[in-house]
Amino acid sequence: MKIPFRFTLTLFVTLSTALLIASALGFISLRAQQSTQTASAPLYDLIVTNARIVDGTGNPWFRADVAIKDGRIARIGRIDPKQGRTSIDAKNQIVAPGFIDVHAHVESIYELPEAENFVRMGVTSLVTGNCGFSETDVAEFLGRSKDKPLAVNLATLVAHGAVRRKVMNQENRAPTPEEQKQMEALVEQAMKDGAVGLSTGLIYVPGTYAKTDEVVKLARVAAAHGGVYATHMRAEGNGVMEAIRESIQIGEQAQIPVDISHFKISSKKLWGKSSETIGLIHEARGRGLSVTVDQYVYTASSTSLDSLLPSWALAGGRTQGKTRLADPTQRERVAREMKDTLKQSGFKDFAYAVVAGYEPNPAYNGQSIREIAKTARGKDNLDAQLEQIFEMYAAGGAGMIYHKMSEDDVKAIMREPWTMIASDSGVRRFGEGVPHPRGYGNNARVLGRYVRELRLLSLEDAVRKMTSLPAQTFNLGNRGLVREGFAADLVIFDENTISDRATFEQP
Ligand SMILES: [Zn+2]
Repeated sequence: MKIPFRFTLTLFVTLSTALLIASALGFISLRAQQSTQTASAPLYDLIVTNARIVDGTGNPWFRADVAIKDGRIARIGRIDPKQGRTSIDAKNQIVAPGFIDVHAHVESIYELPEAENFVRMGVTSLVTGNCGFSETDVAEFLGRSKDKPLAVNLATLVAHGAVRRKVMNQENRAPTPEEQKQMEALVEQAMKDGAVGLSTGLIYVPGTYAKTDEVVKLARVAAAHGGVYATHMRAEGNGVMEAIRESIQIGEQAQIPVDISHFKISSKKLWGKSSETIGLIHEARGRGLSVTVDQYVYTASSTSLDSLLPSWALAGGRTQGKTRLADPTQRERVAREMKDTLKQSGFKDFAYAVVAGYEPNPAYNGQSIREIAKTARGKDNLDAQLEQIFEMYAAGGAGMIYHKMSEDDVKAIMREPWTMIASDSGVRRFGEGVPHPRGYGNNARVLGRYVRELRLLSLEDAVRKMTSLPAQTFNLGNRGLVREGFAADLVIFDENTISDRATFEQP
């Protein structure tokens, strides 16, 4: 199997805490160290020597050795390697805090506890439960790691969409006061059980049916427990300015820090408008509101095929959606609205939409809707493409990649000091489907392309965006810095060679 990019070594030795679950490999490495114990007990478990430390603060690198004991960084300085049970020569490479990916979708992580696609890009901690999707029983979800230790630390948000679905299914209406109370109680319990905040997915069913007020009330509950509000906004293309204003309003009214997820300009007609969206964040921060964003560093997004359809057409679930599409009048209305949306976004057809994973016919994986329409229907005009989308929706939907962004906007957003690097990826089985390369190469791409090749960011600032900034934003105490007393989640890499090898064609 092809290794998607070069990565020298990832080390992580962690201790279990209430929110963050210790890694399986941490225990393995500690056991290995014990077997090499000598007669006079060494001071430390492990010493990393000859390191150039990028400590996560953004400060310039410095040369030192790092000693680790009991899963913590015990000492930084000149340290005799003989004082450790074992040692690793970093050979003058960069030693940084393990990367913290605050925008993951790893509800299925216990099926792939090695989380290899994340570990291979240097990620040692994940925040899942984003975009309105999470487990609602947070204690049970995090507790599973006792029986099934994970290779990474795991934290979760509690998702508005999941809570709403549990209380009122996929209903397209406002909650009754009783339902609102039930949702608040679920958020409260999740926060008590260790959730790091509340997430929303306001383009998805059922989050899209919620008015601002409903979210504010739930965010207040999360705020009372020190949580953050992470949002996949109501719009990222047409309507993005309004959506940012709504996110800020929720933060202001609920008195909660806001993190806008996968910040982007997802409409060809709005390319270049990142200066205005960034301006809104600056303005909010200027008023004393804590607003940050996270970003994956590609010009394509990835989400469901369903998100191409208007939300009213999806209400109640797929069976009801199929019934609507079977009715000629409603089918015509769905098609008309989709054409309008397409036009408003500046695209003439669905060539920008590429299938990542389609179970009924994996041969579609990697092909655009236009290409599939041509093969499957013998024509590739817009109506044929819409028919193709309806057919795939009815057959269960598909995972998609949407090439809708501009590199200039990606760069402008990346430069902002409050932008974190996060993948928006799930745990991956290598070789399955043609998923978005962000799940294999996001962090390496920043360090290779945007730091070394384009010099858009300094190495130290890029590492800060992957470590201390996410730890600070999501309250992941004692992580994200190479500092004495902090968790010994470390990553070692060669900044002269690190690069992403995962492509859209061959992730
Ligand atoms: Zn999202």
